[in-house]
Amino acid sequence: MNKEYYEQAKANILIVDDSPENLRLLSSLLVKQGHRVNCVADGEMALHAIRGKLPDLIILDVLIPIIDGYKVCQILKANEKTRHIPVIFFSSLDSESDKVQAFQLGAVDYVTKPFFVEEAIVRINAQLDVGQREKLWQKKLQEQIRERKSVEQELNQSRALLAGVLNSSLDGVAAFEAVRDRWGKIVDFRWLIANPVATMTVGETTESLEGKLLFEQLDLTGHLFEGLFDLFVQVVENCIVISKEHYYSLDQAWFHIVAVKLGDGFAMTFRDISEHKQMEITLKEVNEELQRQANIDSLTQIANRRRFDEYLAQEWSRCTREQEHLSLILCDVDYFKLYNDAYGHQAGDRCLYEVAQAMSLIVKRPADVVFRYGGEEFAVILPFTKGEGALQVAQEIREEVLELQIPHDLSQVNDHITLSLGVSSIVPNLSSNFESLIETADRALYEAKALGRDRVIYKALERPLI
Ligand code: GH3
Ligand code: MG
Ligand code: MG
Repeated sequence: MNKEYYEQAKANILIVDDSPENLRLLSSLLVKQGHRVNCVADGEMALHAIRGKLPDLIILDVLIPIIDGYKVCQILKANEKTRHIPVIFFSSLDSESDKVQAFQLGAVDYVTKPFFVEEAIVRINAQLDVGQREKLWQKKLQEQIRERKSVEQELNQSRALLAGVLNSSLDGVAAFEAVRDRWGKIVDFRWLIANPVATMTVGETTESLEGKLLFEQLDLTGHLFEGLFDLFVQVVENCIVISKEHYYSLDQAWFHIVAVKLGDGFAMTFRDISEHKQMEITLKEVNEELQRQANIDSLTQIANRRRFDEYLAQEWSRCTREQEHLSLILCDVDYFKLYNDAYGHQAGDRCLYEVAQAMSLIVKRPADVVFRYGGEEFAVILPFTKGEGALQVAQEIREEVLELQIPHDLSQVNDHITLSLGVSSIVPNLSSNFESLIETADRALYEAKALGRDRVIYKALERPLI
């Protein structure tokens, strides 16, 4: 037994007996053992003594003046404060019924007088022992209760903090536990926590959501999380983290959803990003339109020179990589200055538009593109097209424009608008550059002009000197 126990074992003992000489020997032995002993001679004094300081044990005679021992015992046991004090009767009454009555009143032992002092001491110490153990136990219990209370308090504080955070969040916050069938397969998820935003978003209340299943028990038509079940299963089973934008068709709303594994379930936050998404869509449309405008020639509504430079560089790399032919047609409206002079600038503009549209009609493959190269000049880039093919396209363009039958009285080759076209083609490689292709097509165009206009001239690229 520990030191603390022994220190506490020194007890206050109250002896109530009207003839204390009976107990003098017992009393002096108890004092020798280190106990404090207080002797009183009648019941009234006994009750008075107890009111001061509670003894650890009472040795009580039955036949004592004023209030007898049984009555004293009865009073003590009826009082919340004193009922725990062990009472041992020391009495000369030795009938069965006296003892029974004593025990019925709550006594812990009954010693008949005369008694053997050693035996009495052993009995007293045994009761003190029980009392001390009880006290120690009570003390420990109190400590545990105190500890528990402080833990509970901390828990309540952190709960309140958590609730504060959750309730003030503008995002929906919720936690779910997996519901599994008897083979362990996840069949649904049960709501554990949902903050006000989360409950509001799914059209429920905190109470109505409690214990509900995420998929089975919510209204299935237009379910907010429809289509996400498999993803949530992956979050739990494979610990993946979802961060995705989810479209809720019923409300035509966009949500950004983040889900992470939490125990045998997952925690989710979701935010209505509809406004942001709408802005993003508008911005994308505006950007696309700006991009389109940046690449389109406003007069002819075909791709512009800027786009030509970009597209030629892009297709040059592609054909270099794939070792394919890249062909270029450059064309120029014949005697266009005279056309402007004869019909006016506005008519000139209209004419350029019509020529551009006619050229676009001829060029059909998606990779083939017609550009306004500048003034009354146009270009056609034909990736994956050999020289003969390009030549044929050029001829078709020439004929198509002629068929427009745009009158041009001042033209010196025809009564109508005509084109001169220069064509060239190359399988580009790392030692060639696209300027050489443009130059060659330009020289072919120049030759077409020189030879009388209204014609197509093909020129092969001169082999670079190695
Ligand atoms: P050639 O047969 O040798 O090509 O003679 P040309 O008159 O067509 O060539 P030139 O370079 O002498 O003149 C080109 C003309 O095209 C001059 C210019 O005013 C006109 N032009 C260039 N861009 C536009 C335009 O956007 N609208 C109009 N209406 N005319 C334009
Ligand atoms: Mg010109
Ligand atoms: Mg011209």
